[in-house]
This record gives sequence, structure tokens and C-alpha cells, in this order.
Amino acid sequence: MNYCSQCAAPLIRKIPDGDDRLRHVCTACRHVHYQNPRVVTGTLPVHGERVLLCKRAIAPRLGFWTLPAGFLENGESTDEGAVRETWEEALARVEINGLYTLFNLPQIAQVHLFFRARLLNLDFAAGVESSEVRLFSEAEIPWQQLAFPVVSSTLRHYFADRLQGSYPLRIEDLRWERDPTRQPTAAHEATAQSPKARSE
Ligand code: ZN
Repeated sequence: MNYCSQCAAPLIRKIPDGDDRLRHVCTACRHVHYQNPRVVTGTLPVHGERVLLCKRAIAPRLGFWTLPAGFLENGESTDEGAVRETWEEALARVEINGLYTLFNLPQIAQVHLFFRARLLNLDFAAGVESSEVRLFSEAEIPWQQLAFPVVSSTLRHYFADRLQGSYPLRIEDLRWERDPTRQPTAAHEATAQSPKARSE
């Protein structure tokens, strides 16, 4: 961030009075541009014994399988965003069954949420960001071709919890070793590196 979105003057990094960390502050209008974590919201769509996955048609992790998820938009609740993303990526209509996994990704300043969801019909198809959408039984899950650790972890929890018939909220912090030669350019790219997960 180089220029003020309020008045277009250059920004500097400084600690504002009464604050304790560096912020982007406008040199002209003094506006403080706070940057805070972003929320990614998605679903774990289920039909009978099977779960729905989308094959990514876009980078990062093109060709890998994922749960439908994306950035929460202004004006949405987290479950509304999850339903919207499920429609956009899988053209699937779902009924939300409650929040299931929450991942803190402090290194990339994101929080990822997945809701358990019931597919309302089988009229799903690939949305623009997907090349294929299909249902998988537990035995069919392509564990080596999953796009992101948050997806693997949500599926692992789900198949274990399903044996018990209860689905408590699962909260994890995902961290990974920084590769100094590499600058993550996209949030999801960073999460694709091997994380060190801590289960709560
Ligand atoms: Zn300004």
C-alpha cells in the first residue's frame, strides 16, 4: 500500500499515537489505514455417505481438489458467504448444518471457516473456478491431490467424527516453516505448504 485511498497522498509507516504497531498513515489527511485478517468461508457438502469436492480450474493449486470456499464479502454473514461460494464453485444448493472447522492462519492473516452442509439435490456442476465437481466416498478421497491443508484437516475430522455421530467445532492453528527464497503471492498458495497443525 503506497497511496492513501482517501486523498491519494503518499503513505508512510509509523506507529500512531496510542497504538503499539506500525500502520500505514497518510502524510496529508493523517488517515490510518488499518489492515486486519480476512475471512475465508466454505462448506463441507454432504450427500448420504459422500462428500462433494471441486477440482480447481485456477491457480494456485490448479488441478487439485478442494472444498468450495472463498473470501467473505462485505454485507454477508459467514454462512451466507459459504452458501454463495458453494453455488459459485459447484453450482450446488446446500442447507447449512452448523460451523464445523475454524482455522487460524496468522502468518497470512486469515481465518478459514467450514460449515457442514447438506446437498439439497444432485444438480451440481463445475462453476467457473472448477474443472470438475463430484461426490467422493471416504475410500475415494484423493488425499494426495487435495489443494490445501485446511481441506485435508476438515475431511479427516469429518470421517472420524462421523463414526461417533457428533460433530463438535474443531479449531486449529496452522503454521508452517517460512521459505526465505519464496514470497507467497496468494493466500492459498501459502497454505499449500506443509503446515504444522496444532489441534485444540
Ligand atoms: Zn490521505
